[in-house]
Amino acid sequence: MRYAFLADIHSNLAAFTAVLNDIKQRGGVEEMWCLGDVVGYGPEPHECIELLREQHGVCVVGNHDLAAIGKLDTSYFNPDAAAAAHWTGKQLQPEDVEYLTGLPQVIEKRDFTLVHGSPREPVWEYVLSTSIAKDNFAYFKTPYCLVGHSHIPLVFKSNMAGECSVDRLLPGIGLSVGKDRMIINPGGVGQPRDGDPRASYAIYETEGGIIRIYRVEYDIDTTQAKMMKYHLPVHLVARLSHGT
Ligand code: ZN
Repeated sequence: MRYAFLADIHSNLAAFTAVLNDIKQRGGVEEMWCLGDVVGYGPEPHECIELLREQHGVCVVGNHDLAAIGKLDTSYFNPDAAAAAHWTGKQLQPEDVEYLTGLPQVIEKRDFTLVHGSPREPVWEYVLSTSIAKDNFAYFKTPYCLVGHSHIPLVFKSNMAGECSVDRLLPGIGLSVGKDRMIINPGGVGQPRDGDPRASYAIYETEGGIIRIYRVEYDIDTTQAKMMKYHLPVHLVARLSHGT
């Protein structure tokens, strides 16, 4: 069986479409596991939700999804994110609101727990350091946990002795599923933040137990032109060029 892990699509239809095409070219997957923040920041929230609903799979809710449907106070957002969230809310169709409202915060699939932020705080917490990861291993029961939110492809491993380590997940280098428990972030589809502007996602092959990160070029100009047309914050437009 093969599964695709996608996080932080962020209303970036060009990036999402490029990733779906890449998955198809690699032979397809049984299911797509989406780690939240389908909307926010980008120019095509409705189209991204519609396309996601056509995929076979599951999705957990992210902070930007909740902000767009008015279920999260945007005063905790930076001004650009809050402005984009406000704009996003106005673009959603009733069926989009219903879909986002129905997304759970935590889903278990096979050996994996899926959340947007962290198993301890599924909506808000960033897992970016070994000290935070170490605490979070106590908050899920499955061997592995998938997270999004930081938009950075990383793996945190906890060995038998409870020692925690972190590694960047680079394209082309397979991650073997083994004895260590792991918290894995496949990177961001619609707004990468690790200095590489290409969309990031992962495919998990259960046969052999390998997770591979893929980076996919997409038409950044198209997304940026739409963002400018809708007067979305310029900083959000610019950062897509740099992957920051
Ligand atoms: Zn995000």
